[in-house]
Amino acid sequence: MVSSRPGIGHLRWVFRGSLIEPADGAYDAARRIWNGIFDRRPALIARCADADDTSAVLKFATKSGLPVSVRGGGHNVAGQALADGAVLIDLSLMRHVEVDRARRVADADGGCLLRDLDSATTPHGLACPVGVVSHTGLGGLALGGGYGWLARTWGLTCDHIVAAQVVLADGSIVEASDDSHPDLLWALRGGGGNFGVVTRFTLRLRPVGTMQYRVAAYPVDAAHDVMETWRSFAPHQVDGVHVMFSLRPRYEDDWLPASLRGSSCLTLTMVAADDDDEGVEQAAELLGKAPSAASIVRRLPYEELQSLDDDAEPPGRRYFTKSCYLTDVPADMTRHLIESIVTAPSPFSSIAVEYWRGAIAAPNASAASAFPNRDAPFMCTASAAWLHPQDDSGNCAWARQAIAGLPSQSVRRTYTNYMSPDQLTSHVAQTYGAALHRRLARVKAEYDPGNLFHSNPNVLPAREAE
Ligand SMILES: Cc1cc2nc3c(=O)[nH]c(=O)nc-3n(C[C@H](O)[C@H](O)[C@H](O)COP(=O)(O)OP(=O)(O)OC[C@H]3O[C@@H](n4cnc5c(N)ncnc54)[C@H](O)[C@@H]3O)c2cc1C
Repeated sequence: MVSSRPGIGHLRWVFRGSLIEPADGAYDAARRIWNGIFDRRPALIARCADADDTSAVLKFATKSGLPVSVRGGGHNVAGQALADGAVLIDLSLMRHVEVDRARRVADADGGCLLRDLDSATTPHGLACPVGVVSHTGLGGLALGGGYGWLARTWGLTCDHIVAAQVVLADGSIVEASDDSHPDLLWALRGGGGNFGVVTRFTLRLRPVGTMQYRVAAYPVDAAHDVMETWRSFAPHQVDGVHVMFSLRPRYEDDWLPASLRGSSCLTLTMVAADDDDEGVEQAAELLGKAPSAASIVRRLPYEELQSLDDDAEPPGRRYFTKSCYLTDVPADMTRHLIESIVTAPSPFSSIAVEYWRGAIAAPNASAASAFPNRDAPFMCTASAAWLHPQDDSGNCAWARQAIAGLPSQSVRRTYTNYMSPDQLTSHVAQTYGAALHRRLARVKAEYDPGNLFHSNPNVLPAREAE
């Protein structure tokens, strides 16, 4: 029982947020995260109010010999925010954003959701490129990379971290920037939560305005031809267009014709800034090459675009994700994806393929960050989503097979933010590649030599890794 541990009294005395223990009424709600499959029981949930709270709780955990885990938005698909018997450093009270319009930067607290950031920056006609679901946490997304509708134009979220306030394993609070702890700043751009708790991100902002959003729907039998069309088109995509190819076992939406409603379906989603003539023209051109059964075009403010997909993957369902980068999407791969979607055991599951490159692959971004695999053209993600525990094994097996059955010559490595629980230690070195991993391990040895922060795609400190 934590209450009897030496030091808890002192922690209570200095702590400004709230401390929640297993016997407290608020405990069960506080240990819930987005993925309902995880039913883990932390020893203590420390809802920090600021960096000083975070420092105090880290010192307490170290003195007590307790492991820690860190929760930003609680959306990690592999449940990294929660660990049995650990002190959960919960940043959900820390969601303030301050925008400096003149310098085009925002200071965002470490527990912000994407919607906190967008709602503060978009009234100024500015945004930091982030993910596409507004209830996702900024912390995990930014530290692991962060791609979305603007990534091909401006790069990943991690490329926009210009500075960070970080609470280290020993409780000290440091500022990482180009002038101070530059190696730590480099590692935070893609190296995940391995190095400390980020209590404040300083993020570069980009101009945004009205966006153009097109979705075209096709019966699943047409998916093969559409993929072939897009596959030859994708390498010529201008950086202003992002295209997503999504397969669903059963798709319902008001705008669909009766012939498609409730059946397996392909959608092609294309997003470009409304004033980007070249991007808008290209999206229309792709649609012209792949005529659809139905399509919609909407012009909408960037902030509204950012919440369009919020209901597709609601908190509380059970989820299991497998993902990989692809060097190509050959015909036998598309056939496998189609076979997978029509045999999905749950109607809520989906498979998506996206084309990256553009600003993501820019050489200067690569040099300034720890984010690996920037040259991967495509990413494929099988997301199993279902309701009941008795269906866990069938749905997890489905997602595994959807990715494992892809022709291996076109598959390589995984986006760290989509790693499944079994990949968090075994696949990390391979995913970063030898040079990046060696450098990350050296930074880890400097900032977290005892590997306190290990509930993440874990980089071991250099001396352990060698
Ligand atoms: C519905 C949904 C949509 C998504 N869409 C996208 C998308 O469009 N693009 C994309 O790139 N990814 C997307 N993702 C994946 C997402 O990037 C990861 O799941 C990410 O880990 C979520 O961050 P979080 O803070 O919510 O996670 P949490 O579960 O809270 O945290 C995960 C881990 O990140 C680290 N961490 C989080 N915050 C901090 C912090 N402040 N300081 C130090 N470490 C921290 C910790 O190690 C923590 O265990 C999506 C996920 C979901 C569930």
